[in-house]
Parts: sequence; C-alpha cells; structure tokens
Amino acid sequence: MNMGNDENIVATVAPSPLKKVTGASKRAAARIINELCTGCGICVKTCPLNCIRIVESELNFTGIAEVDERCTGCNICAIDCPWTGVEMINPDGSRKDEAEYERQLKKLRGYH
Ligand code: SF4
Ligand code: SF4
Repeated sequence: MNMGNDENIVATVAPSPLKKVTGASKRAAARIINELCTGCGICVKTCPLNCIRIVESELNFTGIAEVDERCTGCNICAIDCPWTGVEMINPDGSRKDEAEYERQLKKLRGYH
C-alpha cells in the first residue's frame, strides 16, 4: 500500500545503516528501520512534537521517515506505525521491549 506522496518529501538523504542513539537522555528514542518504512507519513502526523519528517530515499518512491533530536521517546510513532518501521532504542543502544509500548498504550487509554 502506498499512502505517501511527493508533497511530503522535504529533503534528501542517502540511505544509511541504523545509527546508534547517543546523548545523555535516560529515555529511549525512536529510530526508523529504513528497510521497513514505506514513507506513509502516519508517524509524521501522530508525533506530538512534529519531530519526524519524510525524506527522499532510494529505498522507495515515497521516501522514508527521519526522526530529529527533539524526540522525547514517547513511543507513539512506534505504536502507530502499521509496518513496524519504528523501533525504540534505549540510551545504552539496546532495543526497548515492545511490551512496554503496550503497557503505555493501556495506561494512556485509562485501562489501568
Ligand atoms: S515509520 Fe512507519 S508510520 Fe512512519 S512513515 Fe515509515 S511506515 Fe509510515
Ligand atoms: S517517540 Fe514520540 S517524540 Fe519521538 S519521534 Fe516518536 S512520536 Fe515523536
């Protein structure tokens, strides 16, 4: 399914291997799995900080998502991405357990 369009593309970057998240933050940060991202733009619309944009990529015609340094690690984009194209990376470089997103989702919706 291709839900993106050229109007969403705001910049050009070369595809690059996954980068390790760095910085002093104690929270995880979102990282796009370039090979899974379809450039649909859903995460761009749902990120509360507007810190995701779609950039051109050789991987697909619609581009791919890119997260900037303002990410607070809220997990919303990782929860919302229909293609599991976002992973949350802890400050130590490990991958955050997806079960934590589920707990957060339930909490946000008032289930516990
Ligand atoms: S990361 Fe997921 S939600 Fe965001 S543009 Fe890529 S496929 Fe769509
Ligand atoms: S984790 Fe939250 S703040 Fe970070 S890019 Fe995703 S939606 Fe935006």
